[in-house]
Amino acid sequence: MGIFISIDGCDGTGKSTQIERLCDWLRGLGHELVTCRDPGSTGLGEAVRELLLMRHDLRIDRHSEMFLYMAARSQMVEEVIRPALAEGKTVVCDRFLLANVVYQGRAGGLDPDMLWQVGHVATGGLSPDLTIVLDMPADAAAERLDRGLDRMEQQGDAFHALVRDGFLAEAREFENRFENVQIEVIAADRSIEEIEKDIRKVVTEFLG
Ligand code: ADP
Repeated sequence: MGIFISIDGCDGTGKSTQIERLCDWLRGLGHELVTCRDPGSTGLGEAVRELLLMRHDLRIDRHSEMFLYMAARSQMVEEVIRPALAEGKTVVCDRFLLANVVYQGRAGGLDPDMLWQVGHVATGGLSPDLTIVLDMPADAAAERLDRGLDRMEQQGDAFHALVRDGFLAEAREFENRFENVQIEVIAADRSIEEIEKDIRKVVTEFLG
């Protein structure tokens, strides 16, 4: 079985930047890499992503939003992640179920426990072996984004502050909730190189 790593955190914390660097480094160590993004990485997932993030004309209530994320993730698990892990590959995913719990639950008002339960069904119980949360004040992270904001990003500063706190709260409870999985919070309001160094350290320790 391969290894499954997810990177999560608010938008603008540097997930894409660090995933690219982490993957280059892991390839150098001889890992066969599969990268994916949640929602996305399948035909269905990318179509759902477009609905969720770009269709500003649609009304999508929190439960519908939750199920759309779950459907995209379910497809990605079956189509991309499980086959890759079965071939012994290392999977690095930009976000996973934790983001759904935080955005629709902790910040969005749905019950986080319910989201974990629905998520368990959607993923068939598959969790990342290692989750890295990039953490920094949400307003500073938002300032890094010079592109137009998508539907989730447009929910305002108060929402994103709840998202940040939600990630930290879930990280604290993670080890009570799961066995044999690890979560690490890394301060993201530093240079790209400093963050990269910490991520390498965490992954090196994890790989043993
Ligand atoms: P995310 O995937 O979490 O939304 P990105 O990796 O796309 O974040 O980074 C968002 C923006 O911030 C990009 O323009 C990126 O170049 C920049 N950026 C990433 N990491 C840092 C950092 N440590 N310090 C300053 N700017 C950064």
